[in-house]
Amino acid sequence: MYEAIVIGGGIGGLSAASLLSNAGFKTLLLEKSPVLGGRAKVIDRNGFTLDYGIHLIRFGEYGLLPRLFKKIGKKLDVVRLGESKLFINQNEYMLPVNMEGILKTDYLNKEEKQLTMDLLLSILRENSDNQLDTPISRYLEPMDIPQKIMRLMRIISGLLLVVPEIDKASLGELIGLIKKAVEYGVGAGYPVGGWKTIIKEMESTIIDNGSEIRLKSKAKSIVLGDSGVKGVIVGNSLITGENVIIATDFNEAIRLLIQIKHGNFREIYKKPVPTTGVGIDIGLKGEKLDYKGLLVWENPFIMGIITSNLDPNLVPDGFQYATFLMPITFERYSEAKDASMNSLIEIINRWLERHNVTIEWIRKLYFPIVDGAAPIISQHWKKRVSPITPIRGLYITGDWVGSAGAGSDIAVGASLKIFSDIQEK
Ligand SMILES: Cc1cc2nc3c(=O)[nH]c(=O)nc-3n(C[C@H](O)[C@H](O)[C@H](O)COP(=O)(O)OP(=O)(O)OC[C@H]3O[C@@H](n4cnc5c(N)ncnc54)[C@H](O)[C@@H]3O)c2cc1C
Repeated sequence: MYEAIVIGGGIGGLSAASLLSNAGFKTLLLEKSPVLGGRAKVIDRNGFTLDYGIHLIRFGEYGLLPRLFKKIGKKLDVVRLGESKLFINQNEYMLPVNMEGILKTDYLNKEEKQLTMDLLLSILRENSDNQLDTPISRYLEPMDIPQKIMRLMRIISGLLLVVPEIDKASLGELIGLIKKAVEYGVGAGYPVGGWKTIIKEMESTIIDNGSEIRLKSKAKSIVLGDSGVKGVIVGNSLITGENVIIATDFNEAIRLLIQIKHGNFREIYKKPVPTTGVGIDIGLKGEKLDYKGLLVWENPFIMGIITSNLDPNLVPDGFQYATFLMPITFERYSEAKDASMNSLIEIINRWLERHNVTIEWIRKLYFPIVDGAAPIISQHWKKRVSPITPIRGLYITGDWVGSAGAGSDIAVGASLKIFSDIQEK
């Protein structure tokens, strides 16, 4: 009998399992695929260590993952990003992503800088919870804001929420993130050693504390007893556990939940709308690009980084590796993904040509799910399913449940809540 069984070895499942194992709970982590990491999985290819597309840590060393590492007695070293750049019509500007950036940028003139400052200050005065149902554009409309600043708001929403559509993105979610970025003075960082470090360190915490990880082990269903959760069926066997934490993507979680005869899960666990997109990783010969911050194109919205400039150990000597993401709205993903991929490659190729760099290889990536729940008004965090279910011992984590933030922070935040609940009980 395990004290906890975690279904899924992505960042959400690894977070829950490492917290529980470190606190002495005998835990079993089940992962259906042969590797850990889920949508943050990392591959090694010809001397390159490649994340699954652009992967940053919001708020750098103050982010939730470094905090979780402290809780499991480890330190996650994070490199802060350097100056970010905005590319519009072949021009390169300093991207104003914070107050200092607004003052320094060559993208805005003096009057526009003042307007942008005033706008950010007025946003910061708002209570984030009260604005969760407000689309960003509705808040801006009465202010008669110049197009250039509207474009900047689109970029900020794209960067922080991965939703550049400001008519859908939740202002409250955005305010929550901007407030944290201002409080910590850091927008984003990158883990030393890449996301491989995060996965490896959480894995070793689980194993070193006497808990277990089973790869290629798919949970078929969850079994309930008289007073709550009883265990998980894998193959033809029942593995018993006092607590079961579903840490899969939402499609699989809903499949598992629908089988449970308790209340109306169909009603409660409605499928969220994810963010989707296409991406490319590029291996570059030579070390000609010295950018250390975010690289952003406004229309179509693209964000990228030269990953190896943040950690040179991720590439063989004499090479660089860059990664770029173009978000697509969920409704358009199927019909638009191929054209978006072509457009992404064309824009980045043109930009690289101007820098006279040699492309060694390109890896094309299609993302039917980037973040499990897009932080849009119809499904802001308060409208999403709670990580603590009405069934005793049954929990749900992942980047689509009811926890504030975006991307992996939702999953890590949910796993922290689940850990506290299990510890208290
Ligand atoms: C291109 C891209 C860029 C991103 N950038 C960032 C970023 O910069 N910052 C950030 O914080 N986040 C980012 N994210 C989001 C981040 O990757 C996810 O939020 C996070 O990885 C989700 O983790 P998860 O555990 O919720 O789910 P997943 O990663 O989907 O993990 C679920 C796991 O469950 C396993 N599983 C499924 N069904 C079963 C079953 N029945 N039995 C056993 N195992 C099962 C799956 O194989 C998988 O390993 C990005 C995502 C993408 C795709």
